Amino acid sequence: MVNPLPNILVTGSTRGIGASITHALKHRALLIGHGRQDGPEVIGADLSDPAAADRLWDAALTRLDGRIDVLINNAGVFEATPVDAPLPDWQAAWARTMQINLQAAADLSRRAILHWRERGVGGRIVNIASRAAYRGDSPAHWHYAASKAGMVAMTKSIARGFAGEGILAFAICPGFTMTGMAEEYLASRGGDKLLADIPLGRVADPEEVARAAVWLALEAPASMTGAVLDINGASFVR
Ligand code: NAD
Repeated sequence: MVNPLPNILVTGSTRGIGASITHALKHRALLIGHGRQDGPEVIGADLSDPAAADRLWDAALTRLDGRIDVLINNAGVFEATPVDAPLPDWQAAWARTMQINLQAAADLSRRAILHWRERGVGGRIVNIASRAAYRGDSPAHWHYAASKAGMVAMTKSIARGFAGEGILAFAICPGFTMTGMAEEYLASRGGDKLLADIPLGRVADPEEVARAAVWLALEAPASMTGAVLDINGASFVR
């Protein structure tokens, strides 16, 4: 029987925003998730390894019977690197963040495009970037902001370059989004002060980001390709 549901690979689906996305896609897609380690419905691949994204694509394709229709690049790290860190540590931190947040997403997007080309069909890529792409981030997170700005630029390049082949690309830029324990989360993002900067008066729920991701993955009009959606309680409007 032909499977009428789209096949979707979601990276970083084990928790946080990725877990909300897979939850919201349940019954609407055939899913394969991804995390650092193998698990039920999850392919393990450490994206800090430059070869891992390509292996993940192959494994996901096998698990989804040779067809992937939508790629959601959500996995990412937010790791502090102080400006006075020794140069080797500083450079290693930059390389790690760039590898996980940007290069792995690029490698997966590349495979997705080649896959859709080979099959002569279109497809969709949804990239979870960040408000930091436009606004910048803390003094210890330039590399994070740069990786997310790179992701936005990559999204727009894919949209412009491959729309003629029916390949669509979108990005979402969440602001603070409450994943995990509230206290731990707030502490990692600078404490209560962060709320003062959000006109909506609260950080986003992962479910709000997931709703936007699902809409882009399944429903957004093709003419929207290249669009970047902000989800930040008006803490940064552009
Ligand atoms: P999280 O830390 O809760 O989850 C991150 C996911 O990425 C996990 O599933 C983890 O397994 C995966 N991951 C991280 N490093 C990996 C590695 N080396 N190899 C394989 N998988 C790895 O994060 P989250 O808050 O849910 O964030 C999800 C995405 O949203 C990220 O790209 C993040 O940058 C972005 N984002 C989050 C916020 C926020 O405030 N939570 C704001 C803006 C953007």
